[in-house]
Amino acid sequence: MNLSEFRKQAHLLVDWMTDYLENVETFPVKSQVEPRQIFHQLSPAPPFEGESMETIFEDFQRVIVPGITHWQSPGFFAYFQANSSPPSILAEMLTATLAAQCMIWDTSPAAAELEEMMINWLRDMCGLPHSWTGAIQSTASEATLCAMLSARERITDFRINESGFGPSDRIRIYCSSETHSSIEKGAKIAGFGRQNVVKIPVDLQLAMRPDALRKAIADDVAAGYQPGCVIASIGSTSTHAMDPIKEIGEICESLGIWFHIDAAHAGTAMILPEYRYLIDGIEKADSYVFNPHKWMLTNFDCTAYFVKDKGTLIRTFEILPEYLKTQHTSQTNNYRDWGIPLGRRFRALKLWFVIRSYGLAGLKEKVRNDINNSQHIADVIQARPDFELFIPPPLNLVCFRFKPEGNWSENQINEFNSQIVNQLNASGEIYITHTKIDGKYLIRLSIGQTNMTAAHVDRAWNLISTKAAEVLQSAHLSG
Ligand code: PLP
Repeated sequence: MNLSEFRKQAHLLVDWMTDYLENVETFPVKSQVEPRQIFHQLSPAPPFEGESMETIFEDFQRVIVPGITHWQSPGFFAYFQANSSPPSILAEMLTATLAAQCMIWDTSPAAAELEEMMINWLRDMCGLPHSWTGAIQSTASEATLCAMLSARERITDFRINESGFGPSDRIRIYCSSETHSSIEKGAKIAGFGRQNVVKIPVDLQLAMRPDALRKAIADDVAAGYQPGCVIASIGSTSTHAMDPIKEIGEICESLGIWFHIDAAHAGTAMILPEYRYLIDGIEKADSYVFNPHKWMLTNFDCTAYFVKDKGTLIRTFEILPEYLKTQHTSQTNNYRDWGIPLGRRFRALKLWFVIRSYGLAGLKEKVRNDINNSQHIADVIQARPDFELFIPPPLNLVCFRFKPEGNWSENQINEFNSQIVNQLNASGEIYITHTKIDGKYLIRLSIGQTNMTAAHVDRAWNLISTKAAEVLQSAHLSG
């Protein structure tokens, strides 16, 4: 493609992108295709001759778009949102155009220095300790793996990096029964083994019980294990459970155990000082992760990983072949040594665009509105005798279930709620997901998509409540 053709196509694409964002609410939120439907529409072999962009783009609209779930629709209440925004998209276009490999300072000084400043901005925006630093990574899973690897090396004085695990290395990882699956995955990859992940019991709010953590560690030490790392959640995936950071931090500090905090989704709320009580005691942590790519209007992927001691991080990952040696190492950050991959995308640019474009005030307003809308729906649910709120939402995730009056068994109630979720998702009107706590099927509403307003939230509630009445009526008819 020559550059005059590129210019023409790029303009056409920007028009399509703008139309898409304008009309995103008209698409079914969850893709309605059947399994393999897209695959069978794709050519089984690559073309020998190049094809025109018109043909490719026509196929994109015809074949690909129907198979897309529209995460940028304000009808998206599933999982946790993965927000984008116009300034973020613009920055991604520039990132793709520059296509810079930002592995070391020399390979793009602006990328390294902007990343350093964006980490400082995020740290200060979220009230994290001023002495901390960090790096932008792809995902929370990757950042948590970095924390586990750093913990492994600190506890073994960097021996496992050199000689691998020995028979006496029996290192344990602690997290609550509610923490994200990335912890178990990390334990598999880091060589601890899944069986050495100790799941600590939780309280009624599903937060880790510090007394149980203390006991589990003491039992392990007595049995000859080494406590390697404790991972706490600020906002668990299932229900947004909040682990008690201060108490856990005190235990870790007194025993010299690495303390990592996973605030993947909820971390964005720390831009609001009134919610920082959730991370009270953060200074006792060794590392902390949150995803601007979830709630901070910044395209996937963009993960902020913070550490108290960058020396341990770098020593865990650094490797210096001759071909990567450069000057200026004392004044600059070579981020290849701050995480797993060598090659790195220029992710700081989209953060810079987003934060400058919305301003701190705009971002705070967005997050505050989402939390207010969540509280509003929680109040509506609590006022309904036929619905049950799981817990008052700490932030913007509302978990609840339909529980109509009558002699319905727990299985039947679960079935009602699963029908509500599946039928609404099949309608394409909204997209919601569920979780199960103590065998109870709960509907989750994650209220945070970029363009979601109170009206979208009210509409979702009306759809749920109407569907619940339909499901109940059909149960009466068939029963
Ligand atoms: N931790 C928590 C609490 C999450 O909710 C999620 C994903 O939703 C993750 C980790 C994994 O995030 P990522 O996809 O960035 O690895």
